[in-house]
Amino acid sequence: MSEDNVRTTSRRNVLQAGVAVLATGAAAGARAQEKIEKSMVMYQEKPNGDQQCNKCLHWQPPGSCAIVAGPIIPTGWCGAFAPKP
Ligand code: SF4
Repeated sequence: MSEDNVRTTSRRNVLQAGVAVLATGAAAGARAQEKIEKSMVMYQEKPNGDQQCNKCLHWQPPGSCAIVAGPIIPTGWCGAFAPKP
């Protein structure tokens, strides 16, 4: 390998490593801020049997959820339902 090739390859590796670090950082930031979309957890605006949002561990009165995005109604439900202890 010529010296030019070595220099080019090495520069490319450094750039790729930098891009990988930025991508990882962005993904971690997104995870920290974003909630799950309602469609991802089959959210519905009615209870599922005796399961409903205001009986769920993730419920945050008066109308939101710790893990699902957007306004949430107390009598809604989604697939991430977890009963309060
Ligand atoms: S049932 Fe789903 S949307 Fe409702 S509070 Fe629980 S996790 Fe959030």
